[in-house]
Amino acid sequence: MFEIVFLGTSASAPSIERGLSAALVLYRDQRFLIDCGEGTQRQLLCSGMGFRKLNKILLTHGHLDHILGLGGLVSTFSRWESISTLSIYGGPWALQRVEDLMKVVLRSGEVEMNLDFIPIAAGIIWQDDQMNITAFPVSHRGPGCFGYTFVEKSRRPFLNAVAERLGVPPGPERRRLVRGEPITLADGRVVTPDEVLGAPISGARLVYVGDASRVDDLVDEARGADALVIEATYLQAEAHLAKKYSHLTAAQAATLARETGVKVLYLTHISRRYSEEEVLGEAQPIFLHTVVVRDLDRARVMKEK
Ligand SMILES: [Zn+2]
Ligand SMILES: [Zn+2]
Repeated sequence: MFEIVFLGTSASAPSIERGLSAALVLYRDQRFLIDCGEGTQRQLLCSGMGFRKLNKILLTHGHLDHILGLGGLVSTFSRWESISTLSIYGGPWALQRVEDLMKVVLRSGEVEMNLDFIPIAAGIIWQDDQMNITAFPVSHRGPGCFGYTFVEKSRRPFLNAVAERLGVPPGPERRRLVRGEPITLADGRVVTPDEVLGAPISGARLVYVGDASRVDDLVDEARGADALVIEATYLQAEAHLAKKYSHLTAAQAATLARETGVKVLYLTHISRRYSEEEVLGEAQPIFLHTVVVRDLDRARVMKEK
């Protein structure tokens, strides 16, 4: 199960209700900050998440409404020893812009921090034994825009009743079987993992898209996702502006969700020109399970049974 904390949900400039783009994805003890618009520090505090373990930042692209918060965040982090290295993942253009921003932040010498800029390409960018994160290209203004898919690895459930029947005692023997190692019982019988592990159960899949200008190239990635987070900057009545500025309408985002069979659609990057009701009013008739997210909203992403 993943959890998303939406920190900033406004497009381009903040509004009274909405801060600039940022979201946290949580998985077990890992935290990933996606984008870091201006004001993200306060949103982290307001969310109750704070700065703990926040050492990985994934950038969708290099537009200022998605990166300017990094200056303040790095300034704050540098005063604490709890985070010694901040890893920033993104396309080369986004990283170059952040490096330029950091020259100002770090120039005076009063701020010291190890920044690890990690240029990404399509494919797996991070993984441990429980999950992985894949980057995929997204069309928007400027080169090297990426979305991120978080996938919980499939696992085989331990069949307690079978283990009981075979006489496997609770404790280290069962843990070894879960790790995939055979064990020998006191009476000499060998029990293999296949005997006590059930069929693989696939894990949750969360697809996160930042700003985007089209959806046809996102179909394969979005297909069957347990949750799709994507921008909805405009409504169909102003589709010409969406096209002009390389953004999506709520209807385009909802159509993608419907056609790819996602479970829940979370719309973000909401413009001040529309009310939440208007955005929902356009998307929901197309895709019922649509949520127009607000700052500090939280969502759990679980594998649908
Ligand atoms: Zn934006
Ligand atoms: Zn943008």
